[in-house]
Amino acid sequence: MMTRNGELLGAGRWLTGGGGTLDCVDPATGEVFAAVSAADVADVHAAAERAAAAASEPSWADLLPHERARLLVRVADLIERDAERLSALQTRNTGKTLAESRALVASAAGTFRFTAAACETMQGALTPQRGQHIAMSRYEPIGVVGAITPWNSPIASDAQKVAPALAAGNAVLVKPAEATPLVSLALAELILEAGVPAGLMSVLPGPGAVVGDAIVRHRRVGKVSFTGGTGTGRLIGRIAAEKIMPVSMELGGKSPTIVCADADLDHAVAGVLYGIFSSTGQSCIAGSRIFVHSDVYDEFTARLVAGARRLVTGPGTDPATQVGPLATFTHRDRVAAMVDRAREEGADVLCGGGLPENPELARGAYYLPTLLAGLANESKTCQEEIFGPVGALLPYTDENDLVAQANGTVYGLAAGIWTRDYRRAWSLARRIEAGTVWVNTYKQFSIATPFSGLKESGIGTEKGRDGILSYMRQKSVYFGLDPEPLPWAAG
Ligand code: NAD
Repeated sequence: MMTRNGELLGAGRWLTGGGGTLDCVDPATGEVFAAVSAADVADVHAAAERAAAAASEPSWADLLPHERARLLVRVADLIERDAERLSALQTRNTGKTLAESRALVASAAGTFRFTAAACETMQGALTPQRGQHIAMSRYEPIGVVGAITPWNSPIASDAQKVAPALAAGNAVLVKPAEATPLVSLALAELILEAGVPAGLMSVLPGPGAVVGDAIVRHRRVGKVSFTGGTGTGRLIGRIAAEKIMPVSMELGGKSPTIVCADADLDHAVAGVLYGIFSSTGQSCIAGSRIFVHSDVYDEFTARLVAGARRLVTGPGTDPATQVGPLATFTHRDRVAAMVDRAREEGADVLCGGGLPENPELARGAYYLPTLLAGLANESKTCQEEIFGPVGALLPYTDENDLVAQANGTVYGLAAGIWTRDYRRAWSLARRIEAGTVWVNTYKQFSIATPFSGLKESGIGTEKGRDGILSYMRQKSVYFGLDPEPLPWAAG
C-alpha cells in the first residue's frame, strides 16, 4: 500500500527526502505496513522555490477560472474512481471504520466539485466612483500557500484546503501529520493525474517542528492554513505575526451538547452517542461535555450508558464496527491517562474507562467508549480536549447558569441543542459561543456552509463560496478618466 515507492512529492517531483523515513502503522493490529520518505528543511526550501516558479508560470497564472474548474472536476472524478482504494488506505492508516472513510472520501470529491463550481462564480467589484476615475476591486492568488493537516480525517482536511487553494490559483505545500501521510500522497497523485501542473503540488511528510515549521517560515509561503491543536496554532501564529502573513486556523474544541427537559430523548440519545463516539471521539467537534436538564438527567443518563455499552468496538474493516481503534498507540495511552486523571478528580466512570477485554483486540490501539459523571465544569477533564471516546455528563437546572458553563472554556468550536421548543433553541443557539450550532442533530456538514471556530478554536473560515477568497488577496485598480492633468503640479 505504498504510494510511489514511498517517495515524497516536492513541487511535482517524486523524490527521497533528507529526513529519513516515517513508518505507517495499522492501529488495529500494530503492524507497520508502509514507510514514507520524510522531508528535511532543504527539501522544503527547494519545493517552495519551485512551487513559486510554477505558480507564476503564465500557463497557470493566466488560466481562466472555468479552466481551473475543469481540472478540479477531473480531480473529483478520479477520487470517485478510486474511492475504494482511498477508503481502504485511510482506514488502514487511521483505524477509522470503512463506512466513515467512504463517507469522507465522497465528501472530498464533493469538495473538489463544489469548489470547481464556486470558482467560476468568484467576482470582483466595480466600486462607486468619487472622482474622475473608475475603480475595481479584484482578487488575485497569493502564490504559494502552506496546508498543515492533522491525522484524524486526512482526506477531508486535505481536500478542504487544497481544492480552494488551487481554485484560487496558488501552488500548495501540504504537510500531513507524521502518522498519516499516505492519503495525502495518494490524493496528490490523483491531482497530478487530473492535469494540474505538477509544480503546484507538494506533499512533504515529516515532523511538524521541522517540516511544518520550515513551511511556515519560508519567505515564498504567503499564507498558511492550519488544522490541528491550539498549542501548535499559537506557535504558527507567532511566526505569521513576524512575517505579517495571513493564517487560517481550525483548532481544538470542548463542545457542549445540551439536552433540555423537553428533548425527544430517542433523538437525543442517538445524537449524543454519535456526537461523542463516532470517529472514536477523535473529532475536533466531538460533543464531549454533555449538559442534561436535571428533570431528565437520570433517565437520559441510563439510556445513554446503555447505548454506549451496546456500541461495537473493533477493527475499522469489520462492517459491524462502530468504534474503531484510536489512530495511534501513543494517543490511546494519552486518552487512558486522561481518564485516570478524571478518576483522581473524583469522576464516576459510568461505562468504559479501560481497554476492551476481547483478546482479539489486544494488539490494537483500542479504548472503550467512556462516560463520566460527578465532575465540575471547571475540572481539567471538562476543560481540556481529550480527543478520544470520552464524554462527561453535567446536570443543570437554570438556563443562565447553563449558558455560562457551556461558554466556560477557552474553546468555541461547536455545540448541540436537543429541544422541541424552537424559541429556546433559537435563544440558546445565539447565546452559545460556537462557530457551528446543531439543533436536534449533530456532526452534519455541507461544504457549502462556512466552518469556523470562535475563541481559541480558530481564526478564519473554511468551506463555503468565500472559502476560496481566504486563499486570495484583494487588489484595487484605478483607471483615471480626467481629460486634464491632476492639478497639483500641472504646468
Ligand atoms: P497537532 O497540532 O499536533 O498537529 C497538526 C499538524 O501540525 C501536524 O501535521 C503536525 O505535524 C503539524 N505541526 C506540529 N508542530 C508544528 C509546528 N511547530 N509548526 C508547524 N506544524 C506543526 O495536532 P494533531 O494532534 O495532529 O491533531 C489533533 C488536534 O487537531 C486536536 O486539537 C483537534 O481538535 C484539532 N483538529 C481541529 C479541527 C478543526 O477543524 N477545528 C479538525 C481536526 C482536528
